[in-house]
Amino acid sequence: MAASTEQLQTPYFVIDEPVLQHYYDMLVKSLSESWGNYLIGYSFKTNSLPWLVSYVKRRGAYAEVVSEDEYSLAKYMGFQDDEIIYNGPYKGLKSFEDVLLAGGIVNLDSMQEIDWLTDLAGAHPDKIFEVGIRANFNLEKMCPGETTMGEVSGRFGFCYETGKFAEALKILRSLSNVSVTGLHLHSSSKSRSVNIFRSIAQMACQLKTEFNLNLNYVDLGGGYCGGMEGRPEYPDYFPVVAEELRKCFSPNQTRLIVEPGISLISKCTTFVTSVFDTRDIKGTRYVMTDGSRFNIDPTMIKSSHLFHIDYTTNCSAPRPVIIQQIISGFTCMEVDRLFTYADQPELIPGDRIIYENVGGYTMSLNPLFIQYFPAVYVRNGDNMRMVRKKWTPAEYVQGSEW
Ligand SMILES: *Cc1c(COP(=O)(O)O)cnc(C)c1O
Repeated sequence: MAASTEQLQTPYFVIDEPVLQHYYDMLVKSLSESWGNYLIGYSFKTNSLPWLVSYVKRRGAYAEVVSEDEYSLAKYMGFQDDEIIYNGPYKGLKSFEDVLLAGGIVNLDSMQEIDWLTDLAGAHPDKIFEVGIRANFNLEKMCPGETTMGEVSGRFGFCYETGKFAEALKILRSLSNVSVTGLHLHSSSKSRSVNIFRSIAQMACQLKTEFNLNLNYVDLGGGYCGGMEGRPEYPDYFPVVAEELRKCFSPNQTRLIVEPGISLISKCTTFVTSVFDTRDIKGTRYVMTDGSRFNIDPTMIKSSHLFHIDYTTNCSAPRPVIIQQIISGFTCMEVDRLFTYADQPELIPGDRIIYENVGGYTMSLNPLFIQYFPAVYVRNGDNMRMVRKKWTPAEYVQGSEW
């Protein structure tokens, strides 16, 4: 459905397709030049908007999923079982088996999954099962201060330092028709630095050497930066990763898998909101907007936002400078305050605040709190196409009885 920007009812998200294409192309080019033999698995959890999922699918990306629901969505969107990368601690047994039987990628995360695989392999003695294993290792030691888990351990995969990784490998190697052909090393970091990915690549080499692994793929996971001023971009990461990997792997045998999420979609996405009211209470100016902190910072961790303002042209009166305006959301929660606008022209109803870089972990984490999901548009030059309608009670009540 086409629409012009003028008449669009806020709030809504906009995905700029040429910008998305730019980042996808940059990723592909960097992987091709650095390693050649690569596979992109798009991280569903970061943003599984159907339009986005289908966009990356058309370009050959696999679905990187971390639950049976995400797996089912991938199937619903047309991915075959062998176009799935199945990760995380919460897989479903049926989907786990389906992906393995079809030759898709499963990265084992727990002893329970090894038990499932043992049963499956036993039930299909004529079939060879190729699996990946997720390594849990002390990345913090390699990159002090940079990881999300810090000094305490991460929660995912088999721990190298405690010997769990070796133990898991030993069990898997005892299964005659199972072969460990992949290594998964996703780790979340605060810094998303090039150094993080150099260390992950070094760990891949260390594990390969120590355990004499014969790997069809090394999966670095996600966690890259993209579209952030002064931060690394894809072409900064992959030459460094390739330099490390080349010390013990060859692109002829070993595929590089990446699982980008936020780095692909952050920059191309904006969230457009309007001021609907202002009020002064005990010397504080509150600016009430129809966008909420829950829309763009649902985990309540951001301390600042990138934004710009479109001042309404309905009012030509001069705007006084206000010392402090607290930009707030529409919800009835006091914490729903987005930022303080200091020493700036007075905002009035009809002004639009447009938040930038909001593609990752926003739509997928939006709650159905007070207002339902906002509309999403895709912009291509002057053309705006609605790719998700604003939710109404009809969507909200689906599947319910009363
Ligand atoms: C979250 C996650 C990703 C994507 O992370 P981004 O930070 O969005 O790039 C990729 N792989 C796995 C296993 C993940 O858990």
